Amino acid sequence: MKYYLRRLGLAFSLVLLVFTAAHPVVSAEAYQPDYTEENDVATGNEGMVVSAHPLASETGYNILNNGGNAMDAAIAMQYVLTVAEPMMSGLGGGGFMMVHEGETGKTSIINSRERAPGGADSEMFLDDEGEALPFEERVRSGKSVGVPGTLRGLEHAHAQWGTIDMNELIAPAISIAEEGFAIDDFLANQISDNAEKLQATAAKDVFFEDEEALKEGDVLVQKDLAKTLGLIRDNGIDYFYNSEISEATANAVQEFGGSMTKEDLSNYQVTQDEPIWGEFNGYDIATMPPPSSGGVFMLQMLGMLDDFGLSQYDSKSAEKYHLLAEAMHLAYADRAEYAGDPEFVDVPVEGLLNPDYIDERKNLISLDEVNENPEAGNPWDYQEGKDEVENVEQPNDKVDGQTTHFSVADKFGNVVSYTTTIEQVFGSGIMVPGYGFMLNNELTDFDAEPGGANEVQPNKRPLSSMTPTIVFDNGTPVMTAGSPGGQTIITSVLQTIINTYEYNMDIHSAVTEPRIFSSDIESYRFEEGVPEEVIQSLNEMGHNFEDESEAIGNVSSIKIDPDTGEYSGATDRNRNGAAFGLQSGE
Ligand code: GLU
Repeated sequence: MKYYLRRLGLAFSLVLLVFTAAHPVVSAEAYQPDYTEENDVATGNEGMVVSAHPLASETGYNILNNGGNAMDAAIAMQYVLTVAEPMMSGLGGGGFMMVHEGETGKTSIINSRERAPGGADSEMFLDDEGEALPFEERVRSGKSVGVPGTLRGLEHAHAQWGTIDMNELIAPAISIAEEGFAIDDFLANQISDNAEKLQATAAKDVFFEDEEALKEGDVLVQKDLAKTLGLIRDNGIDYFYNSEISEATANAVQEFGGSMTKEDLSNYQVTQDEPIWGEFNGYDIATMPPPSSGGVFMLQMLGMLDDFGLSQYDSKSAEKYHLLAEAMHLAYADRAEYAGDPEFVDVPVEGLLNPDYIDERKNLISLDEVNENPEAGNPWDYQEGKDEVENVEQPNDKVDGQTTHFSVADKFGNVVSYTTTIEQVFGSGIMVPGYGFMLNNELTDFDAEPGGANEVQPNKRPLSSMTPTIVFDNGTPVMTAGSPGGQTIITSVLQTIINTYEYNMDIHSAVTEPRIFSSDIESYRFEEGVPEEVIQSLNEMGHNFEDESEAIGNVSSIKIDPDTGEYSGATDRNRNGAAFGLQSGE
């Protein structure tokens, strides 16, 4: 990274940073974020930030504007999201941060995925009769809480790429937690939808007043969270993993029936991973390897769809959606069978992405018929080794998570594409008493029934779908993409890339174009905007789309024009996110 540029302006920028980043919005008392739709899309020539919350985007913008780089901005944004989107990500979660370093041209991933505690076992989600516990019970149990990785991830990233003191980067979040911010419709709905779960834990005192859920326009003040962030600022990130905080975390998990100990927290380690690479219409795509299933199956679907020349069909046509659904069915059949944590199982990534295997799979897709029996193939025929895991049927009551994705690009050529999560909305619902942060339920991403590639094992990472991605044109980053939405994440990112590089849509259209999702011939969803007659004709063909549309994921994305260096950013329709571009001269 171009440290010399930062050093030149260091003294000046720190003064400004304390002033502007600690006060990203003008406010007498509480922060009043700008939730208007005008922030959905932006352009700039010196950088771009895009996230699902305007306070996070504004913080990132201020940091870039004051000389920080994309990593500084991303770290400060994650801290702010902990406060402003407490239901989506934070200190009690994990995530995958893809980083492209402008100076060296290297792309890597800080993998802070939560791990199962040492005391976890493959049967922990079964009842006394050996049946899988219902999902709603699994979620709210302390057994669902994985050892949080987010802070270790930030620490690791900061050590390599950060140029501003951690103390400065955490300051905006502390200020917002202390002073409070005005709740938007989205957070208000999430609090009331999750009332029962939240009222069973210390979260009750934060998100409710006199038993009533906080509403849109109310101010959310999080004193305990501000205290915890202050402890981390004063004592460093290690303090979170080895102190009163880790003790309180382990106690909270145990109180709800989990096994996590202080030692599990102190033993937690991130990994730094290489992306997996693919190609689509001449662009190179860097995306997420296992323990996410995201990248592998997105690339597999892109490969299957490549030859069909989708853009000969209208972007809202039955033909396009049919082909997408057929590719999804085949990819998700493989996903269920082969994907897991590569530290514990051999995932046949090479075979799954072998062009001949992809061809074999693609030949199972017909333009005018639904494949009624999309089964897993055998990628092990295309790589050395053999299939050593069983395909174990799983209960189908899992509800897709809702997390958050954000991206930053700076003028030094650095790009960060980061999906960060506590799994379900408000995770397990368990708040660490006195410390004010929510604990994830990421371990429900493991199979409930043991025996398969993704069964629970101590210290293992549950299979994810998160798909932070960066697209390149001749080595230059030209696009970021990512989304929340559990297993739908993969197909949301897929469709955003197809919209951009097959249908040549601008970034806002690519992000907001209505998407579909279908993992098998019984599970279908579509977003508002897919024409009714198209759904009808798809169902006449043999698909099974639901009657009602529903939002799928929440894509956010940055596009960089390789010729002009112009940045454009866009957020999705179903949250009040914000894109802010930096313009030279500002
Ligand atoms: N638990 C999800 C995953 O790792 C992320 C949360 C979400 O679904 O958005 O795939």
